[in-house]
Amino acid sequence: MLLKTRGIAQNVNESLIGRVTRNDKNLDSNTFLLTEQPFENLPNGDYIGVLTTQKTNNFLSEKAFVYNIPSLDHLSEGDLIAVGTTGNINTLYRINSHYNTLLTTERCNSNCLMCSQPPRDRDDIDHYYNILKKLIPLIPKDCPEINLSGGEPTLMGELFFNMIEQIQHDLPDTEIHVLTNGRTFAWNSMAERLGEINCNRLMLGIPLYADYYQIHDYIVQANNAFYQTVAGLHNLARYNQRIEIRVVLHKQSIPRLVKLAKYIYKNLPFVEHITFMGLEYIGYTPFNIDKLWIDPYDYNDELEESVEFLAGQGMNVSIYNSQLCVLPESLWKYSRKSISDWKNSYLPECEQCSKLIDCGGLFTWNLKKHSNYIKAFSNID
Ligand code: SF4
Repeated sequence: MLLKTRGIAQNVNESLIGRVTRNDKNLDSNTFLLTEQPFENLPNGDYIGVLTTQKTNNFLSEKAFVYNIPSLDHLSEGDLIAVGTTGNINTLYRINSHYNTLLTTERCNSNCLMCSQPPRDRDDIDHYYNILKKLIPLIPKDCPEINLSGGEPTLMGELFFNMIEQIQHDLPDTEIHVLTNGRTFAWNSMAERLGEINCNRLMLGIPLYADYYQIHDYIVQANNAFYQTVAGLHNLARYNQRIEIRVVLHKQSIPRLVKLAKYIYKNLPFVEHITFMGLEYIGYTPFNIDKLWIDPYDYNDELEESVEFLAGQGMNVSIYNSQLCVLPESLWKYSRKSISDWKNSYLPECEQCSKLIDCGGLFTWNLKKHSNYIKAFSNID
């Protein structure tokens, strides 16, 4: 799915955020007009500017203008975009998707072996915050859920809390899901500050990869990470924050997976959700594949024991990024169709599968690296 495109910019002197429309009647001060109309016929009025695939630049207006764009077909009426000074057009919010994620920073204080979006050490926090500050009020009020990711969002410091407060105010019915490594919450003041916001629609997704510090620290490539994450989890619980534990399944995490499940039950009984997640073949993973790859079929015993143990204790457990034909049937009830629509794919084998509708399929990038046990179910299975 196309989320970025580019044209030639005119009168764009800063990042502009707005809603796209092809309908002159929907124009207002927050909209871009997508059009192929002759420029002399363009409507007057207070709108941000014009985006077009036309190749000419005889556009006589002070408005922002991006021309020579290869295609605008990927944009739906009401999508929210950012237009940069170089003519780049990034889709920030898709109106027809339930999977909208807002990037907060590309900085991170960990450097996980399997990071799907490797961090970049550049000072981008003000840049992304200023984009989000303009974007959030434009998101439809009936948006069911918004995801915040990075990098590590809490490295925004006070701006992180400002952003949560803004979402809480501007989107009063929207669930907020933040992906964070939780380490900064080892500082009580951070957890306390989040508690003060008192947002019960906020869920923090925090990874924990082992019950033993050396393994967790190795996986996230950061000393003291296990200690900080666990301290952070307890601080967050003290301030009544909702927490989801996220465990990525690979060669480093599988050997102690059952022990980790027992650790979570004994030490983190306050968490609301535990999710076991298949490995994504993107970011650092292809470079570390020898350290990480284990065929998901080959860890079914460990996964089944861990999931059944936690579920048996009354905890809420899910499995993400898995395929029904690879999982034992006893685990199907925990398997969720978790992969965002724009990165979800199926193999040619899946076309003839009778469970296609129920199966979450694969990340598009996992078409290159997946279990050897993927096999279509027939109608009599
Ligand atoms: S064959 Fe494809 S659709 Fe069927 S269960 Fe396996 S991965 Fe899912």
